[in-house]
Amino acid sequence: MAEKKSLLSKVRAVVQKVTAKPQAKKTATKSKVTAKSVSGLKQFKTYTSKTNEKYMSKSQISHFKKILNNWKVELSSELSRTVSNMQSDVTTYADPNDRASQESEMALELRNRDRERKLIKKINETLKNIDEDEYGYCMGCGEEIGLKRLQARPTATLCIDCKTLQEIKEKQMAK
Ligand SMILES: [Zn+2]
Repeated sequence: MAEKKSLLSKVRAVVQKVTAKPQAKKTATKSKVTAKSVSGLKQFKTYTSKTNEKYMSKSQISHFKKILNNWKVELSSELSRTVSNMQSDVTTYADPNDRASQESEMALELRNRDRERKLIKKINETLKNIDEDEYGYCMGCGEEIGLKRLQARPTATLCIDCKTLQEIKEKQMAK
């Protein structure tokens, strides 16, 4: 009797795996996209400087402010969407196999949420820097970070030289 039961649950598990597949795949693709944008590969609207324009001019500042605020809104809505998705999913499955795959999905979502939250924090810090007139200058050496670098990474606080140096130091520490 017990054997029959376990066989039945095995069959069930296989059936569930098959039916659960498309959903799991969808989640994986979605999180990949999120990870991509979080890692800084997001494309921002480019800024076209006027001739003889001063570094960190008023219009440059407002450009970056707009980018950062929009980005924050985007991330925040993504964050609340994830939360409401998770809340509506919670009580749906009673079967242990479904629960297990749901749990790993949720773990992934939580990691993404954590990343998004950190990024929002960084954006807030950057906006504070703008308000304090420190934006665009390297926190390591005080030199200009440069428009090109800020276009790709609006939250950058180090110039490329200091950033490279920091990465080398981090690698040595990890050894
Ligand atoms: Zn520097």
